[in-house]
Amino acid sequence: SSWFDQARFIPPDAIFALTAKYVADTFPQKVNLGQGTYRDANGQPWVLPSVNKAREQLLANGLNHEYLPILGLADFRNATAKLVLGSDLYSQRQSQVATCQSLSGTGSLHLAGLLLRACHGQPKVYIPSPTWSNHHQVFGSLGFPCESFKYYDPETRDLDVESYYSMLDNAEPNSIVIIHACAHNPTGCDPSKEQWKEIARRMKERQLFPLFDSAYLGFNSGNLDEDAYPIRLFIGEMEMEAGVCVSFAKNMGLYGNDDPKSPTPPGFGAKIASQVLGSEELKQMWYADMVTMSDRIRSMRKALYDHLIALETPGTWDHLIRQSGMFGFLGLSPEVVVKLREQYHVYMADNSRVSIAGLNEGNVEYVARSIAEVLK
Ligand code: PLP
Repeated sequence: SSWFDQARFIPPDAIFALTAKYVADTFPQKVNLGQGTYRDANGQPWVLPSVNKAREQLLANGLNHEYLPILGLADFRNATAKLVLGSDLYSQRQSQVATCQSLSGTGSLHLAGLLLRACHGQPKVYIPSPTWSNHHQVFGSLGFPCESFKYYDPETRDLDVESYYSMLDNAEPNSIVIIHACAHNPTGCDPSKEQWKEIARRMKERQLFPLFDSAYLGFNSGNLDEDAYPIRLFIGEMEMEAGVCVSFAKNMGLYGNDDPKSPTPPGFGAKIASQVLGSEELKQMWYADMVTMSDRIRSMRKALYDHLIALETPGTWDHLIRQSGMFGFLGLSPEVVVKLREQYHVYMADNSRVSIAGLNEGNVEYVARSIAEVLK
């Protein structure tokens, strides 16, 4: 017997397993649309010019790797709160804002869960379906009863806002609702401003706690203020309490973490983000970098759509250009997804979510042609 006999089995993350299969594939025209990490026009990882410059400045100023305070780098925490809320709302509410640095977006969801559990026990957590796979892992592992609600309608290939409203109207009061602030993963379907207002009104009426998962601020539309709209609506106009879990993985391209294990939050990424946010010059560069990334993604979305139409691919494809963010939700059956992988070496998640960032001028036509051939 072992101390670990009772350990709960957690299946390996499907996307990481898919990436391993892709790496092992020797076919020259293989395409990876699985992992949601930004790629440039040549299919390569992109270090943002603003981040590069911030790193150079940090190194020139004598970067060290001392422990950070337990709550994290103060400049980083304050600059992040100001960025998310916008200067006006931040200055009005500064005294009510509490921040803590964590291990990227996933760590912040976990910390938020711990805090909410410490304050409220284990209320229900309502999670959209479909959603990013780790939501259930994070909140389930903390002992919260997680309940899925219908977010997406496969028929219309759009947000099912009526189901959303009806869940809110019938939710147990004092529950938590996980909200993708923008660029819903995996569907790419976000509520309109009018729908956000309606969601906020119903949540307030039902005394529900909004927990925003904000992994794509600025990366979605290219404009961070635009992407932060629902957060500012709930907290500002609606005067609600909310949790906001922010990640700089996507919008600054800070995916990995170089720090050794330590009992305090890792410093390097936070120092880079803080450097970018603390300098008007770097901040403007970063705003331009987010436009570069979101524009490229939008143009690849359109290119995929145009090729699919030109190839007279069976089915309708306008959902592709209605969606936004890094992901496209194609709406293909699992059999088609397997064929694309095994016969055409085009890799995507089983639910046919594709990372649009994996497309470029060199492969988008091949991907469209592969889809068209499998469907014909
Ligand atoms: N939330 C959503 C919806 C995501 O898609 C991701 C990353 O894929 C995260 C959170 C977590 O991001 P991080 O890599 O910062 O932990």
